[in-house]
Amino acid sequence: MASTEWLEYILLHYRWVVVVFFLLPASLCFDVYYYTRSWIIFKLNSAPEHHEIRVKDVQRQVREWNINSEAVPMCTARPGWQSISFREAAYKKAFHKIQINMVDILEIDTDEMTVRCEPLVTMGQLTHTLTELGWTIPVVPEMDDLTIGGLVMGTGIETSSHKMGLFQHICVAYELVVADGSVLMCSETENRDLFYSVPWSYGTLGFLTAVKIKIIPAQRFVRVEYKPCYSLDDIVKTFTQETTKVEGNQFVEGVMYSLHSGVVMTANMCTAAHPGQLNKIGRWYKPWFFKHVETYLINHETGVEYFPLRDYYHRHTRSIFWEIQIYPIWLCPFKLPANPGMLHPLNGEEAVFIDIGTYGKPGVPSYEPTHTTRRIEKFVRKHKGFQMMYADSYMTREEYREMFDHSLYDKMRKKLHCERAFPEVYDKVNRKARI
Ligand SMILES: Cc1cc2nc3c(=O)[nH]c(=O)nc-3n(C[C@H](O)[C@H](O)[C@H](O)COP(=O)(O)OP(=O)(O)OC[C@H]3O[C@@H](n4cnc5c(N)ncnc54)[C@H](O)[C@@H]3O)c2cc1C
Repeated sequence: MASTEWLEYILLHYRWVVVVFFLLPASLCFDVYYYTRSWIIFKLNSAPEHHEIRVKDVQRQVREWNINSEAVPMCTARPGWQSISFREAAYKKAFHKIQINMVDILEIDTDEMTVRCEPLVTMGQLTHTLTELGWTIPVVPEMDDLTIGGLVMGTGIETSSHKMGLFQHICVAYELVVADGSVLMCSETENRDLFYSVPWSYGTLGFLTAVKIKIIPAQRFVRVEYKPCYSLDDIVKTFTQETTKVEGNQFVEGVMYSLHSGVVMTANMCTAAHPGQLNKIGRWYKPWFFKHVETYLINHETGVEYFPLRDYYHRHTRSIFWEIQIYPIWLCPFKLPANPGMLHPLNGEEAVFIDIGTYGKPGVPSYEPTHTTRRIEKFVRKHKGFQMMYADSYMTREEYREMFDHSLYDKMRKKLHCERAFPEVYDKVNRKARI
């Protein structure tokens, strides 16, 4: 066996060794380093009232790039290893880097029901701040370290998305520094074309410096119901019923443990937990969430539990979903409004899609990633679906353009003189652009 095959074998079959002796100590060290570093950066940089000064600094850097007529395009200076991604961006080494150290929550307006944030605010930071005040955002992508910038420019989804849409659909305004160094605000009523072009543009229209996001009242707990299913028909039926229910079911997700077995979960926020049914799943000694869910399947029982709100939001954080195996498969329904931009239902009417998340590599020797992924991509294009672009994508430029509507994006790139300043989005997200 080649050394990489040995490594894969150990990772798949003796994962506990890697987790106990490597991952846990390494992630503890990293967390200590990262939180200390964030704390220092926060203490030195944090000052919401200095937001404009920080925006001016981004403008200065972009204008210097223009004056020096640099041959290479620009990108954010954030190192690739810090992003929640399977791979590092190859372009980071070659491009001109713009420092955007913007870590502040700028303003919470409870009358307008919005929060204004800088792009490096993380989901963990935001939910921590808002829930203390009795508020939350309608779509909280599940992992603590996901940033507002990454979720707007890339994408974000959560189990509330069947009612609320994707992360971009809860954003009401963006502030950007564009290729010539000027600042543009955009919203439904101001620079509308730009507003609808920003999501899924991966930083190829400008640098994001602030985002205004909707907020909703938060409650202390989430009541979760588990419904194990033992055939594909049963899963499809249950999942469809729960997703399309008009009343209740604030959150819906499914976890498939094989082609014919899975657990459908529905959940709602609530003010109190039933005694004896509270599960603080986020505690370090608790089982990983997907392993806990599996017990309902194994025991052939439905169930009800209550999670503290933040424990619910970040239930997949500790296991980073499940990373290195194919099953379980995550099912997350989302509503896609018929808005302009890269992503919209092709028949022009709002529709519900299902995000099917596989986070690993099949263990079978015959697995060939390019061929298999290209087959899936073809299937998805044929059925007018979309690929999440944090995944490995083997599409050609033409296939990518067939999947995502570039008409508004191309118009905005021309208008904002992006050709020299930023690569096209395909050149940032295709497999060859990632190491
Ligand atoms: C195992 C795994 C699980 C995941 N689970 C979830 C999940 O539960 N829910 C979910 O919604 N998503 C999930 N994702 C996907 C994740 O949302 C995306 O990968 C997201 O884009 C990464 O966010 P980030 O903060 O790491 O951003 P980055 O990867 O740092 O950035 C993403 C893109 O945005 C651009 N960008 C970032 N900030 C700026 C800025 N200020 N100006 C201009 N451009 C900018 C970057 O250049 C880059 O192209 C998961 C990904 C993985 C690998």
